[in-house]
Amino acid sequence: MKRVAILGSTGSIGVNALNVIREMPDLLSVFGLSAHSNSALVAEQAREFNASAVAMFDAKAGADLKTRLNGRAKHLAPGVEGLCDLASHPDVDVVLTSVVGGVGFAPLLAAIRAGKIVALANKEPMVMAGAQFMLEAERWNAKIVPVDSEPSAIFQCVQGLNPDPRAAAPLKTIKRVILTASGGAFAKYTGDLADVTPAMALKHPTWKMGRKITVDCATLMNKGFEMIEIMNLFGLRRDQVEIVIHPQSIFHSGVEFSDGSVLAQMGVPDMKLPIQYGMTYPERGHRVIEPLDLIKAGTLEFRAPDFSRFPCLALAREAALKGGGMPAVLNAADEIAVEAFIAGKIKFTDIPRVIEKTMAAYSPSGGLPGFQEVVEVDAWARAKAEEHCK
Ligand code: NDP
Ligand code: MG
Repeated sequence: MKRVAILGSTGSIGVNALNVIREMPDLLSVFGLSAHSNSALVAEQAREFNASAVAMFDAKAGADLKTRLNGRAKHLAPGVEGLCDLASHPDVDVVLTSVVGGVGFAPLLAAIRAGKIVALANKEPMVMAGAQFMLEAERWNAKIVPVDSEPSAIFQCVQGLNPDPRAAAPLKTIKRVILTASGGAFAKYTGDLADVTPAMALKHPTWKMGRKITVDCATLMNKGFEMIEIMNLFGLRRDQVEIVIHPQSIFHSGVEFSDGSVLAQMGVPDMKLPIQYGMTYPERGHRVIEPLDLIKAGTLEFRAPDFSRFPCLALAREAALKGGGMPAVLNAADEIAVEAFIAGKIKFTDIPRVIEKTMAAYSPSGGLPGFQEVVEVDAWARAKAEEHCK
């Protein structure tokens, strides 16, 4: 039985994770839950799953949760402290990181330093400092299992890989990975992207997700983030990640090995599967999603992405090539720009402009920055991007 702590239990990933846990009471149980401010839903979840600990980021919502739970569950501190306490609690086996954005940075570090299995949905910290997190995980004997469907597909494809006795690491036999993208809300849109509204960007053709990632899908920045996440998770160079648009979201991603063999992980587009695998790893539980019907799916299409129409992808490639603190700048500027777009303050096409200007203003210090330096770069880039949003 694995005891799970969910950071962000009220969001799209968090709720889906609880749907999975509900279906496999013999394998998984809830230890703790947390969210930003939705205390009503956390209270309901804590009662149903008999959670031992809860944490609300917002202090007022935390007080409300206390009243609602009336003595049930241990209440952890507000803010990032409570998230870190939950992530490193000795009674937790698996930490599912499903908060949005850079706020997940410190809790991920706490989970790693406590030697946990991290089911990682919150990709932003892995963009900011993925290589450093991987080194830290090795040091503390923690395991990062990606939950995002494409990195999970690649992770699943390399399980059981025979260590190559001539290579320093077994993953050396990976020649390249094929990272697929649905194409987002504007894959087929032929109009002027400067005129699209937040409501239009928030309509994803195949996946139902939180607002920030849905906009990141529409700009294709999400794919850029996944490219950086995958480079860090599997120790790959940028030219080893090929991005392919695949509108049906059935071929979730694949790996080409040194001998030219390509393995792919496929399935219906349902996040429950990668979430489940992240929590049950290294075991596999029973099926909770619809089976894949290839005849019903019919045609699977693949095409090259359009870098000129979606400049965020090119910016992510540039950040990946520059390395150092640049991916953290990319991430921070994107978070600010997407927020401003959703609030109606800037246009859709201003998102890459704000990011580009912020990246251009950054002068890297050289080398792989430490965690503290990344936090400082993140704060600097947020302030800079705010200026460019005005
Ligand atoms: P949602 O917006 O649906 O949910 C976000 C969750 O995080 C909510 O529970 C929210 O709580 C909580 N949260 C937000 N800010 C804080 C904070 N400061 N402290 C504590 N909790 C906080 O997002 P998604 O579930 O879509 O995405 C979560 C992460 O997973 C993102 O990093 C995303 O990129 C990644 N991901 C998501 C996929 C998906 O299918 N949705 C697919 C692949 C990756 P509250 O409700 O109280 O605001
Ligand atoms: Mg994805």
